Amino acid sequence: MTQHYALLGWPVAHSVSPQMQNAGFQALGISADYQLLPTPPEQFNEQIQRLIRDDFRGWNLTIPHKQAILPLLDEIDPDAERAGSVNTVRHESGRLRGWSTDGYGLAKSIEETFHIPLADRRFVFWGAGGAARATAAYFAGHGAAAIAIVNRTRSRAEKLAGTLRQISPDPELAVFSPDSTNPELARTLADAHVIIQCTSIGLQPEDPCAIPLPLLDSCPRILDMIYRETALQREAQRRGIPVADGRGMLLHQGVRCLSLWTDCSTPPLAAMRRALSLALQLH
Ligand code: NAP
Repeated sequence: MTQHYALLGWPVAHSVSPQMQNAGFQALGISADYQLLPTPPEQFNEQIQRLIRDDFRGWNLTIPHKQAILPLLDEIDPDAERAGSVNTVRHESGRLRGWSTDGYGLAKSIEETFHIPLADRRFVFWGAGGAARATAAYFAGHGAAAIAIVNRTRSRAEKLAGTLRQISPDPELAVFSPDSTNPELARTLADAHVIIQCTSIGLQPEDPCAIPLPLLDSCPRILDMIYRETALQREAQRRGIPVADGRGMLLHQGVRCLSLWTDCSTPPLAAMRRALSLALQLH
């Protein structure tokens, strides 16, 4: 019997998760379909009840539903608890379990691209929105030595730093505004192992470089969470700074979801990577 999976978001039409997950199921020989379910916030609870009724085995959640699911869960993974959001749900006989796989996906992508593990390393998160919160929480909970947060709205960065402090007393924490004349910020960037660009600047083709050019030369390595080419990626390449886009993060968070749904310990990484790459080319 075909198993059903889905991605709930609003909007959600842009997502390439169906191509990636369907390729994963196919490679595992599991008859399954993963579909996009555009779900406005006011229909969220009703949609979840429908998924339970129709025996969907699992689903992903994206904006704006990653927090709305929390009160509906029977069990929440510690990483998701720390992240304060859930992007993956597994359903078994009416029981819902939730995980957050973005932090894992980001860490895995950094390790794969730059051969830098998370533990005892220094990171700068350039942005303090939902993606920064979910991933920085994972980094704080898994042994990062230092986390600096740079954000246009400083109060949001400070709030995130407060959350990280509650997660762990260990990482050194710092907060900055994106001020290109601040020498301390330039030093913090230079001392970091990886700068993680997690603002939405770059989503539109005409967007400027997310990190001010005078600070760019201080960055040793950059991971831009945006999975298409951006001005930041082009500028970094021009300067010879190692840079990765967000595809690896998207891939590895998705691979982890598939493992959680299917209990598969060796998920079909290559097949999912191929499908993702093709889907992004065609999109
Ligand atoms: P969000 O919650 O809306 O946060 C947006 C962030 O961008 C905030 O830090 C915001 O700063 C900043 N920002 C937006 N416009 C700006 C501008 N003009 N100047 C300066 N800062 C600006 O969004 P999100 O969910 O965190 O997503 C952020 C990015 O991560 C998106 O590009 C998304 O595509 C990407 N992402 C990628 C993956 C992946 O798998 N690769 C997964 C999740 C997210 P303020 O606080 O000052 O408003």
